[in-house]
Amino acid sequence: MLRPLLTAAVAVAFLLISLIAAAIGAVSALLGSGGPATSDPSPEALADIPADYLALYRRAAPLCPGLDWAVLAGIGKVETNHGRLDAPGVHSGENAAGAGGPMQFLQPTFAAITAKHPIPPGGGQPPSRYDPHDAIHAAAYYLCDSGARNGDLHAAIFAYNHADWYVNKVLAQAQRYRAAAATPPASADGWVLPVAGRCSSGFGPRYGQFHQGQDLAAPIGTPIVAAAEGTVLNAGPASGYGLWVRIQHPDGTISTYGHINTSHVTEGQHVTPGQPIAEVGNRGQSTGPHLHFQLDTREGPVDPVAFYEQKGLHLCANS
Ligand SMILES: [Zn+2]
Repeated sequence: MLRPLLTAAVAVAFLLISLIAAAIGAVSALLGSGGPATSDPSPEALADIPADYLALYRRAAPLCPGLDWAVLAGIGKVETNHGRLDAPGVHSGENAAGAGGPMQFLQPTFAAITAKHPIPPGGGQPPSRYDPHDAIHAAAYYLCDSGARNGDLHAAIFAYNHADWYVNKVLAQAQRYRAAAATPPASADGWVLPVAGRCSSGFGPRYGQFHQGQDLAAPIGTPIVAAAEGTVLNAGPASGYGLWVRIQHPDGTISTYGHINTSHVTEGQHVTPGQPIAEVGNRGQSTGPHLHFQLDTREGPVDPVAFYEQKGLHLCANS
C-alpha cells in the first residue's frame, strides 16, 4: 500500500512543479515582452567603454525593468571614467566625500543596497564597492529603488547625485552611448514611424472618454522622430500630456507626441521625416513610459494604426 501511495504523491508533486514552472515561464514571457528593448552601443560607446565594463553595464541593467545599460554607463563615465580616473577613492580609500570605487558609493549606501538586494555571483566575496561587478550591479539596484523601476529616470539619477547638471550630464552621455536607430522605412508620401514601440492603449473609447491617439510603450529615452515633414507648432509643457511636441504637416494633419521626457525642437522649427524631435517619457497623466501619438486631420482625429496601415507601415512593433 505504501509504494502506490508514494508513487501517487511523487506524481502529484511533479505535476505541481511543472504547473509552477509553466506559470513562471508565462510570467517571464510577459515580462520579457513588456520589458525595455535595450539599445545597442554606439561607436563612441565601443571606443570609450572598456569591454569588461560594457559587459557589466549590459548585464546589470536588466535587473531593473525600464533601466537602459547606457544610463549605468553614463554614470560610470561621469563618476570615474569607467574606473580609469586616477584619484583617491577610485581603486582604494575614499575621496573627501567618503565615496569609493568605480561607481563612487558611500560605504553605508553600498552596504544597505547589498543587504536588500543580494549581488549576483561574479564579484567579490563579500561584495565590494571597489569591485566593478559588484559596484555596477549595486548601482542598477540603487537606480531601480530610486525611481527607475517606475520610469522616473530623472529622480533615480538625482538620487545618485543631487544636482540637475549631473542628471543632464549623465543622460546626455547615455544618449551618445546608444547607437542611433536605423533609418525608419518611409511611405511613398513621406511618412515614417514616430517611435519603435509596443502598442498599448489604442484609439477609441476609453474610461467613458475618447482616447484620440495611440499609446506606444517604450523605455524612457527611446528616440521619437517627426512622423513627416512639417513645422513645430508646440514644444513644451501641456496639461495632461506633461510635455509635448505638435507638428503641423503640409496636408493639414497635425501630429502630437505626448508624455515625452525631453524635446529636441522649438516652436516654428522646420522638421524632416525621421528627424529626432523628442524622447519617450512618463510625464503628465501617464502610468508608464510611453508615447501618446495622435493624428488630427482636417476632418478630425484618426486611428494612427489604420492611418499607417493604409501607407503600408505597421505602427505597432508587437503586431
Ligand atoms: Zn494616449
